[in-house]
Amino acid sequence: TSNTGNSASHATIIAAHGRHYLADADGLRLQCVTRGKKTNVAVGDRVRITLTSSDQGVIDSIDERDTLLYRSDQYKSKLLAANVSQLFIVVATEPGFSDDLVSRALVAAEAAGITVRLILNKTDVTESLAKTRERLQPYAALGYPVHEVSAKGRPEDTVATLTPLLAGQSSILIGQSGMGKSSLINLLVPDADIAVREISAALDTGKHTTTFTRLYQLPALGAGSSIIDSPGFQEFGLYHLSEGMLERAFVEFAPYLGHCKFYNCRHLTEPQCAVLAAVEEGKIARMRHTLYGQLLHESSQTLY
Ligand code: GDP
Ligand code: ZN
Repeated sequence: TSNTGNSASHATIIAAHGRHYLADADGLRLQCVTRGKKTNVAVGDRVRITLTSSDQGVIDSIDERDTLLYRSDQYKSKLLAANVSQLFIVVATEPGFSDDLVSRALVAAEAAGITVRLILNKTDVTESLAKTRERLQPYAALGYPVHEVSAKGRPEDTVATLTPLLAGQSSILIGQSGMGKSSLINLLVPDADIAVREISAALDTGKHTTTFTRLYQLPALGAGSSIIDSPGFQEFGLYHLSEGMLERAFVEFAPYLGHCKFYNCRHLTEPQCAVLAAVEEGKIARMRHTLYGQLLHESSQTLY
């Protein structure tokens, strides 16, 4: 019997390029498109596909998502990845990293209900190690684990450190260019380069082989283990966050929320604001409160 026509397949989206997607259905690769002009599908989505040939199909429906990460507005597709359980932010001793980008990624992950871990790569560059550890201290103090690795200097140790963290998890790796994200992916995903070539051939991405988000399954680490590699540093879209979600995404605000004079306090200039008092007392880092104010401003701008 032919496996085409109206038969539906359950699959996971493993790569996206415009409106073209590559899905995995129990090891079978399916090239698929959405109906009409919809681009509401993300890498990591579990979907139902109606096959139009043995390896092609149309996405009929998307299963309910556990989590969803958004990109900033400058990208055509607003969806970065679905069903991720854990976000790794890769930083390095050199070149320097942006606190703003790291903090925005933390907010995006908190709002989506995703666990965050920081990876400090290039610990073999000892000149800047102490300074970088110091810069990461505020994040560690907020409860975000920092894992030190060296993809080039100590590859075996790096794999040994990261492998247990990946087991059973759907992870996504992000980082500014130059931090060593590709080096880490190549260590963690044995055939990453072959997989990328297969995917770009299937999606017909031409020379732009590194400009799409892709999911690698990691069967050796147990069922459900996967890792998503996303090109460049993803500027997260935070515009969808309500004011309530935003204040809760700053984990260190939690003890003070509900203690302000006004029940609808925005923690900016209000009198007797418990959050502002904590900033004054040094219990909340001023840098974080400033970012909170910026994000609040950005999200209110998009209402008009
Ligand atoms: P990406 O832009 O984040 O994907 O970074 P790459 O993996 O391409 O690495 C950027 C540069 O840093 C390359 O020249 C790598 O060889 C180098 N690099 C990656 N990991 C390490 C490391 O652990 N130690 C050192 N010293 N260099 C590294
Ligand atoms: Zn307040």
